[in-house]
Amino acid sequence: MANFKTHLNVATIVSGIAATTVASIGLVDVRQTPVLFALGVLGGLLPDIDADNSTPVRLAFGLLGLIGAFAAVFYALGHHRLSIGELCLLAGGTFVLVRYVIFELFLRLTEHRGVFHSLLAVAFFACLTTSLSYHLAAAPPVLAWLHGLAVALGYTTHLVLDELFSVDLLGGRLKRSFGSAFKPFGSDLKATVVMGLLTAVVGTTLPDPRILPRLLSRETLVEPVRQKLWPAQGRWFAQWRTPVSRSGPDWKLK
Ligand SMILES: [Zn+2]
Repeated sequence: MANFKTHLNVATIVSGIAATTVASIGLVDVRQTPVLFALGVLGGLLPDIDADNSTPVRLAFGLLGLIGAFAAVFYALGHHRLSIGELCLLAGGTFVLVRYVIFELFLRLTEHRGVFHSLLAVAFFACLTTSLSYHLAAAPPVLAWLHGLAVALGYTTHLVLDELFSVDLLGGRLKRSFGSAFKPFGSDLKATVVMGLLTAVVGTTLPDPRILPRLLSRETLVEPVRQKLWPAQGRWFAQWRTPVSRSGPDWKLK
């Protein structure tokens, strides 16, 4: 299997190219590219969340703990009368709960290369990202779907990399881990059912699902990329001084 550094490097390259591409064909405003890029990288690291005590897992739960602590404080500020001391106690308690208690439970319940290394997990995290982006970050539907696709792209890249690394290129043999990353479902039925149900629940909260096939269609994606690939009439840098329109993307798809 590929290690953390390889996953980080490849996810960075793939996400960078993808974010640049969608911006260059005008599907998103150029200011959106850092978010798409970051989500792609995140997706590329996410599958190893099931690797017991790996760097991304500890990072992820540390971050989740901090987000949870701040969320608890903001919620309490809006609903209860608390002193700063009490707010600190609440934040600390939430952090410990997420980072240590829930983390410990998660480690016990998941097995490495289980359901988190499957196409079902790609669908789950893509839907979750789309939904959160739409409902919590108030992104327009098309952008929310692009956020989900960015995570899906990074996540799929990770699974493919894991499979590539399970082929022994020099000996021409397959390692035992072959086929354990890029699979439709998890090998554990219970974990697969739970993730399937969660995906179905998140699926009901998605913004207009008809956007997805249109986003990935020939006319929206393939044709514009083909047209933008090389300079017009083969004259390199001839349009260097042509001003860029700042009107932002055309949200026709809405
Ligand atoms: Zn992996």
